[in-house]
Amino acid sequence: MNQSKKDIFISYASADKFEALKIAQKLEQRNITYFLASKSLQAGSHFQEEIRENLIQCEELFLLLTPNGLKSEWVHLECGAAWALGKHISPILFKCQPDDLPTIVTGLQAVHIEDLDRTIDDFEERQRNKKRNPTLLATQQSIDLTSEGRYYIGIDIGKATINYCLFDYESFSGNIYSHDEEGALYSNSIKTPASFDEIYSKIKKIIEEIAFKARERKIFSIHGIGIGLPGMVDPKEGMLVHTPSFNLRKLRFKAILEKIINWRGDPIKNLIPDGGKNIPIEIDNDVRCATRWRWLRHSPEAQSLVCIFIGNGLGSGIVVNGKMLYGKHFFAGEAGHTTISSQTDFFKSPLEKCHCERKGHHWEMHVCSYGIIHLMKTLDTERFAQLEEKYVHRHSKKSLTYPLAEAFYDGDPYAGEIVDKFFEHVAIGVANYVYILNPQEIVLGGGMIRAFHSRDKASPFFKRTTHDLLLEKIREYITPSFDRDYLTIDFTPKQYLSSLGAALIFKDNSYFEYKHQ
Ligand SMILES: [Zn+2]
Repeated sequence: MNQSKKDIFISYASADKFEALKIAQKLEQRNITYFLASKSLQAGSHFQEEIRENLIQCEELFLLLTPNGLKSEWVHLECGAAWALGKHISPILFKCQPDDLPTIVTGLQAVHIEDLDRTIDDFEERQRNKKRNPTLLATQQSIDLTSEGRYYIGIDIGKATINYCLFDYESFSGNIYSHDEEGALYSNSIKTPASFDEIYSKIKKIIEEIAFKARERKIFSIHGIGIGLPGMVDPKEGMLVHTPSFNLRKLRFKAILEKIINWRGDPIKNLIPDGGKNIPIEIDNDVRCATRWRWLRHSPEAQSLVCIFIGNGLGSGIVVNGKMLYGKHFFAGEAGHTTISSQTDFFKSPLEKCHCERKGHHWEMHVCSYGIIHLMKTLDTERFAQLEEKYVHRHSKKSLTYPLAEAFYDGDPYAGEIVDKFFEHVAIGVANYVYILNPQEIVLGGGMIRAFHSRDKASPFFKRTTHDLLLEKIREYITPSFDRDYLTIDFTPKQYLSSLGAALIFKDNSYFEYKHQ
């Protein structure tokens, strides 16, 4: 008996042997092992037992559907068995249409045999994900059953704007469909209303809008809604534990939203995949969502990564050992409130206390926009007014961040003094991360970073990028014997990545692992 475990079980009707061999050949070219009855079975072996054994042991099932296959008892049986075993099934069509699929596989992503490479790409990607989280096989299978449709909605609720997108897991793996460069099929944003009651009804409207756009693209099922929220978020209870942005505590966000979204008779109802009563909703902290996007989209192989977002506040997302770090009470990565000095005058900052009202000089006081603006005003009121007058009108936003960056790269000495401190303090915090986590990559993002990143290429004064200037500062804090050259600093220039990362919750095994702990 052939006991060696195969990657793919190819299910086909014997009349389609030629097409099945074509699939086998493709798999062979890509070093993927397979089980194909006519080739693998030796005369005299126990035919049925062999098939059963291979079905149990295989990673996934490729189902060749043709007019012959649809009539074949074996194909139906193998498909049913694979389904019951929780195996991922990929229907491959030849001379038939998605409409012809047997009930058990309707809603699965079917491809024509000509596009077989896509199916194999997807298989390889799932294998990579499994390798990253080997302990999670059981959970992953149950997630896979509900994620066949591959269309997800991501919504990021920020203090000022709500960003949202329709995300296509297919284009995430780098092919088909027209989409924007980051993989969203459709994305948009609106101003955030003042109260959460209004936010709920806006979310309902957003989903209707996306449902409409989805249908324009002939997408008829959406398999999940991921939502990013500012503050402490408990994915287990679906609760917004605490959010300073909205001054709220203990909001049962998920339960309330479920009641509102899963109403009857509206467009969204028709998008619920076969057999499901509700669209699954998952919530997570917005910084973790942005981190997840950066991780799964651009460094899916990274075992450790830190994303630090510096804007009006400072938050970070941490990936260690291939998993997002949440911590006991969901605030792992709240590095903005780590103390960088106990003395109030250590950095000659005019701010006496962090807004969290605890002792010490907290990191975010020295790098976030409110701290920097405070510093600018106190250091030199006159120069501050001059800079404001000279630069602010050139920028659409009222924020002083972009004007400061522009003045800095123009070589303005006052801006230079401020920015030097800013870079220094960013470097201190980043270096602390390097020592504590020794991460593979550190990614900097957020409004403050974007402002400098957007100006530096045009600078005739420095001829060096923000990246270079920052890296140099960071390295001053790290001992050379720690092989400083490994340090990768990257920028995330996009603003709407939290909504993409929210849609990606359903692709992040570590989220579900944490949730079911
Ligand atoms: Zn603080």
